Amino acid sequence: MSNAIILKSPEEIKIMQEANQIVANTLSLLEQKIEPGCTTLFLDQIAEDNCRQAGAHPAFKGYRGFPGSLCVSVNEQVVHGIPSKKVVLRDGDIVSIDFGVRYKGYYGDSAVTIPVGKIAAKYQDLLQVTKDSLYKGIAQARAGNRINDISKAVQEHVEKHGFSVVRQFVGHGIGSQLHEAPEIPNYNRTERTPKLMPGMVLAIEPMVNLGTHLVEVLRDGWTVVTKDKKPSAHFEHSIAVTEGDPLVLSERVS
Ligand code: MG
Ligand code: MG
Repeated sequence: MSNAIILKSPEEIKIMQEANQIVANTLSLLEQKIEPGCTTLFLDQIAEDNCRQAGAHPAFKGYRGFPGSLCVSVNEQVVHGIPSKKVVLRDGDIVSIDFGVRYKGYYGDSAVTIPVGKIAAKYQDLLQVTKDSLYKGIAQARAGNRINDISKAVQEHVEKHGFSVVRQFVGHGIGSQLHEAPEIPNYNRTERTPKLMPGMVLAIEPMVNLGTHLVEVLRDGWTVVTKDKKPSAHFEHSIAVTEGDPLVLSERVS
């Protein structure tokens, strides 16, 4: 990742909004389709079909060799779960779905954690706190603030509720590359972080664990799981910094 933060023109942001709306519509469709008994590969196929029909390309497929269009991470899986016909969703699971597309030369990226059937109250709390922490972070994405204001807002909200933020994986700038500068951690840093300017487009993505913040990668080389095998949630939006309020490019209308 180059260190230079690439500012986007209003025209580029408009295309990125279109890309992100394809992602948002796909996530909404998946939310409707998810039920106990379906496999994560089934979801992957729905996402890929929906994205191609919209004239977009699934961004994760083939990215550093990733085999799926979706990252589908169940329960203690944090991120980067590989879609599989062997993984069957069950009542009470939570499933994190991360989807990205390339459209007219630009990327969209968003994630949501969805309950399967009826989930435990504690899991419901985890989902709500993670989602709320994303919006706390987005609220700080204003010209003149720094990246660390986003990071701090996410971490404070999460820890206030007794959960933990993953350190090893972070949010990122996004544009004509899926991952651009700057990095956006979900924890407070003491070093100086970049100042936010209109035209920056950022993928903010808290990964929140019920237990320890520590994670490890499974032997498939992709799937990230919590070290204590307690569940984890992930919400992500791509947003544009403006002269005023941040514009949530991947906001879902449903
Ligand atoms: Mg993502
Ligand atoms: Mg991302």
